[in-house]
Amino acid sequence: MNCLSILILGILVWAGASYAQDDNYSSERETMVKQQIEYRGITNQPTLKAMTSVPRHKFVPSNLNDRAYDDGPLPIGYGQTISQPYIVAYMTAAIDPEKEFRVLEIGTGSGYQAAVLSEIVSEVYTIEIITELYNSASERLRGLGYKNVICKNADGYYGWEKYAPFDAIIVTAASEYIPPPLIEQLKDGGKMIIPVGSPYLNQTLILVEKEGEDLTTTSLLPVRFVPFTRGK
Ligand code: SAH
Repeated sequence: MNCLSILILGILVWAGASYAQDDNYSSERETMVKQQIEYRGITNQPTLKAMTSVPRHKFVPSNLNDRAYDDGPLPIGYGQTISQPYIVAYMTAAIDPEKEFRVLEIGTGSGYQAAVLSEIVSEVYTIEIITELYNSASERLRGLGYKNVICKNADGYYGWEKYAPFDAIIVTAASEYIPPPLIEQLKDGGKMIIPVGSPYLNQTLILVEKEGEDLTTTSLLPVRFVPFTRGK
C-alpha cells in the first residue's frame, strides 16, 4: 500500500467513526441536557443522567430524527405528541424518583417518558389507550432492552389495580380533574404529577402528595398537553 492509499483509508476510517458517533446523537443529547434542562434549574442527578442516556431520536418518527433534541414537543402520530424534553425532565424530577420506586405512567405515547423512568426506578407500569401506540411503544421498549417496563393497552383512568399501590404516578395527558382511582392507587407518602385543566387550552401541572387521608396539591407550571380521553 502506498502513502496515498494509507491516507485515504485513514480518512475513510475517521469519517466512518465520526458518522457512527453522530448517528447516536450523543453530543446533541448532552447539549439538550445542559441548555434546556440544567439551565432551567433542574438539578435532580438521576433525572439528568437518564435524560443524557435515553436515545430520544429512537422514540420519534424516523423523518424527525434530526429534530429529536429540539426544545419542543414532536408529533408521534394519531394526533399525539412526545413531550418537550424539559417537561419530561421536570415531571421526572418532581416525583423525587428513587431506585426502589414502582411508578405508574398514564399515556405511554412513544414510550420515552417510561424509558427515562426505567433508567432510574425499579419498575415502570405504563398504560396507553390507543392500540397502535401501545403496540409500537411496547415493541420499541423491548427492542431497546428496557426490561423493567410493563405496558398495558387500556383506559388509564382506572389505574392498574393489580400492581397498586405505586410510589409515584405520572400522568402525561391533560384531565379536567384528578381521576379518583389514581389517588387511591397512590401509596401513602406518594407523589403524583398530572396536568389538570381544559383540553385544548393551557393546563397546570399539579403535584399531588398523599399523607394518609390528606391530599396536598401544589400548582407548579402552566403546560399544554394532549387531552386525557376515555373509554376502552
Ligand atoms: N408520555 C408520552 C407522551 C404522551 S402523549 C411519551 O413520552 O411519548 C399522551 C398520551 O396519552 C397519548 O399517547 C394518548 O393516547 C394517551 N392517553 C390519553 N388518554 C388516555 C387514557 N385515558 N389512558 C391511557 N392513555 C391515554
